[in-house]
Amino acid sequence: MVFVVLRWHMMLIKIFIRLSLLYLMRSQILVVVLAICIIVPAGAGIQSVAFTQHTDIIDQVTVSMMEGYIQALQDIGPRVTGTSGTEEAARYITAHFQSLGLTVREDPWEYRDYEDVNIEAILPGVNRSSNRVFVICAHYDTVQGSPGADDDGSGTAAVMAAAQVLSQFQFQHTIKFVTFSGEEQGLLGSHEYARVANETGVNIVGVLNADMIGYTETEEGRTQIEIQETPESMWLTNVSIAFSQEYRESIDLQVVRDSAHPYSDHYSFIRYGFNATFFFEYEFNDYYHSPEDVIENMDLDYCTRVTRLMVGTLAELAELATGDWTPPYLRMDTPAPGRLYFRGQELIPLPFGTTVVVGGLTVTVYAGDNDTGMDRVEFYVDGVLQATDDQDPYQFVWDQPSLFRRTLEAQAYDRAGNRASVTSRIWTFIF
Ligand SMILES: [Zn+2]
Repeated sequence: MVFVVLRWHMMLIKIFIRLSLLYLMRSQILVVVLAICIIVPAGAGIQSVAFTQHTDIIDQVTVSMMEGYIQALQDIGPRVTGTSGTEEAARYITAHFQSLGLTVREDPWEYRDYEDVNIEAILPGVNRSSNRVFVICAHYDTVQGSPGADDDGSGTAAVMAAAQVLSQFQFQHTIKFVTFSGEEQGLLGSHEYARVANETGVNIVGVLNADMIGYTETEEGRTQIEIQETPESMWLTNVSIAFSQEYRESIDLQVVRDSAHPYSDHYSFIRYGFNATFFFEYEFNDYYHSPEDVIENMDLDYCTRVTRLMVGTLAELAELATGDWTPPYLRMDTPAPGRLYFRGQELIPLPFGTTVVVGGLTVTVYAGDNDTGMDRVEFYVDGVLQATDDQDPYQFVWDQPSLFRRTLEAQAYDRAGNRASVTSRIWTFIF
């Protein structure tokens, strides 16, 4: 039902935009009347115009995307903790996160004879009153002699794909994309990460770990995914199960629950009291830890569907933010800085950026908003509201007597209530 209403509004908005374009091309008044009729009833639900179905998100995870990441990791070769292999892989993963505009942190850790870095990329939540964090993670190191396509190129690729796809959207809560090293030596990198998160009070609400998610043998294996959980993290599995059922067409997987074993990085989080689940292929890959753990021995379609499930679960947990979170664009056109105006006419440029207005002036600003559209512009002189304009061009006739220096301010509001402001200091001689 909700979907029907949203689609209807979306359609109205599309029609409105088309009609507006017509209007701009100097069409008839009828068009304006029609536009008003459409925009007024649609206005109530306007926050939901940008509503995105989760299929728009998860279907962006494709076989060729997964293949690209896994092949690149395999080509680096064995990525043994503390060697040039992990160093090169870390550079590759970091560059990927950076190219998406995410904040990236290479987080060094040390344990006995080992040292290396974890890599963390952050997609901050838009809800400023939330400190909730959701983590998707995998390990990028391998054992000696194995190119580690499935163990754990597959999980690392899932984290990279999640970042690639989810960074195009906004969420209420923060998502962290994390890859660890030192896993093969005993979950070293993740242990350090979870320890510090616990010590510093990071509010990690849920963790999804992927380690070996790209191998199948039989028809049964192709349609099953194992999720390991603890009593505390069962609720995360519930979200995944519900999601897999709702988006069966894209995912085509049945979730098989198991209790968590200490064989991968989820266990570090569990040890420090966080809720974590572990995504694990249903049929075990016997090529693992060998030179034959290569992409040719994987099922990339399966890997893609498991990744879709993880990405969808994450989108569900972090709550897609469908509103308009960005303020409108705003620019003061008249008066321009460093000009002398006489009875509304721009006369000459003045030095030092000084702006002088003699006689009255029609103040004009340019304002626009791509998300929910413009609501109004308010004009202030020395903090006192003078006029409100809700029609483009946004103007205010400044003809009240005024002497000496004033602060002229325009505030633009979009329909979601986001505000932009621009101010100008002006010498006035208005009688
Ligand atoms: Zn592994």
